[in-house]
Amino acid sequence: PLLHWIVLTGPIDGHGTMILVVTDRAPLMRADEARRDFVANISHELKTPIGAVSILAEAVEGAADDPDGVRHFAGRMQAETARLSALVTQVIDLSRLQSDEPLLRAEAVRAVEVIEDAVHRSDELAESREVAVVVRCQEGLQVMGDAAQLTEAVANLVQNAIVYSAPRARVSVSARSNEGLVEIAVSDNGIGIADKDLDRIFERFYRVDYARSRDNGGTGLGLSLVKHIARVHGGSVDVWSKLGQGSTFTLRLPGGDAGAGDELPDATET
Ligand code: ADP
Repeated sequence: PLLHWIVLTGPIDGHGTMILVVTDRAPLMRADEARRDFVANISHELKTPIGAVSILAEAVEGAADDPDGVRHFAGRMQAETARLSALVTQVIDLSRLQSDEPLLRAEAVRAVEVIEDAVHRSDELAESREVAVVVRCQEGLQVMGDAAQLTEAVANLVQNAIVYSAPRARVSVSARSNEGLVEIAVSDNGIGIADKDLDRIFERFYRVDYARSRDNGGTGLGLSLVKHIARVHGGSVDVWSKLGQGSTFTLRLPGGDAGAGDELPDATET
């Protein structure tokens, strides 16, 4: 804490009154530190794929007479640039959500649409790993929020579920209303997460196994983005997981079953 002594001199009797003001600057400093860490981490994360692309470009040059070699190195360059692009997109998304303030404009969004869009965006990934994504969504569910952000959150969970599953596994996505909230759950029977890591996976850049996650094209930002999106929507995200058994991530968002007449904060007015 920072201490200020302010001396006020009383105008009548000339006696001073001493006031001690204690300003706790710790939260400010923590925010500042977190920002510096974030920038340092981003710089590091950006440098890695950029360095890789540079080395791979040299390798392509060196393999000019070897078509297979060129194809191999070009493929790896594509993977690294895809990672770079994902990283930049997520950093931009995160910085937009930085403030944690509730959404300015929230509209009633159909849960089934959010889920279908998110699953659709994950089609290619699912196909490449031959993972089946099964959706079970209660009819008429609506969430109050920003459709693009909600889709982004669900897509992140679905893509993680696919990536951390065994090939040809099954991932399930379900939505239902529960205690005035819409619950969207994404489950997999994949590698699971150890207890010691569970609290940390929502932190920016935290990856359980750095090397393995990098191989998967991960950035370590996905879940922090999901958490931010849940928070600015007035909701939450939590995880159940057992190592070797699988994981279930559950998003809980304000909304309800419009069909059954549940009150939606704004949508019922029109
Ligand atoms: P990444 O881009 O590395 O996937 P995330 O922020 O999305 O970053 O996730 C953080 C870490 O949490 C991952 O690196 C991974 O170790 C772990 N994780 C996330 N989702 C799952 C899942 N469905 N199953 C197992 N581990 C997961």
